[in-house]
Amino acid sequence: AQEQLLRSERMAAVGELVASVAHEMRGPLSSIRLNLQIMGRALREDAVLHEHYEIAFDQVMQMERMFSDLLNYSKPLELQKKDIPLETLIDRCLRELEGELSVRSIGVERSIEPDLPPIIGDPDKIEQVLINVLKNALEASRSNGKIRVSATMGEGPSGAGVTIAVTDHGAGISRRNLKTIFQPFFTTKKKGTGLGLAIVKKIMDAHRGKISVESEEGKGTTVRLSLPGVGGAQ
Ligand code: ADP
Ligand code: MG
Repeated sequence: AQEQLLRSERMAAVGELVASVAHEMRGPLSSIRLNLQIMGRALREDAVLHEHYEIAFDQVMQMERMFSDLLNYSKPLELQKKDIPLETLIDRCLRELEGELSVRSIGVERSIEPDLPPIIGDPDKIEQVLINVLKNALEASRSNGKIRVSATMGEGPSGAGVTIAVTDHGAGISRRNLKTIFQPFFTTKKKGTGLGLAIVKKIMDAHRGKISVESEEGKGTTVRLSLPGVGGAQ
């Protein structure tokens, strides 16, 4: 137990270090990106140089994604719990992803059971959970695909709650990968950080919520998020 305590203290210290490095890097990185963009405009006439600019720009974007996910993953969670109406939550997430959804012509079908109780949680954090899950669904989907988001009454061991399910008809997850998708840095994507679901897990655990993933290769994936609602155990 002593050893475990030491280990978790050390992990906390590492987490803090990572968070502060990620935080410190964000300013310089965004400055690099802005200046690159200005140079890129001046290089438009030169196809070869412009290609180098595009490579550099892509890499900077990838680093920004990495640092922002690292920061989210490693900074300590402080929950500010409130009642969150589901419609508002789902709509805000979909609005945030509107651009990416429309670029790839992916439609979202929303179905929210009437008279659902609000869920209890930190609105920003829960929004991040849903965005990360929706992003994965969107990235797995073919263009012109459909994503379904549904919210239903759930009855968990801790009492009344709400289950949000996100279904896509994308590539699916192999049985083997299904075991590792929540591990930090596990990714099968060229531009992935592998931190999306690790963040989801961390936030859901802090809310005492549950996640389950059902997937069939070639058919698609359903992610279910269950959260305590008003009236459930808190
Ligand atoms: P990232 O999206 O950066 O790869 P995540 O933690 O969000 O990291 O996801 C980890 C991996 O889980 C993905 O790389 C992908 O292989 C798999 N995955 C997650 N959601 C889906 C989904 N809806 N469809 C197919 N694969 C998925
Ligand atoms: Mg992801």
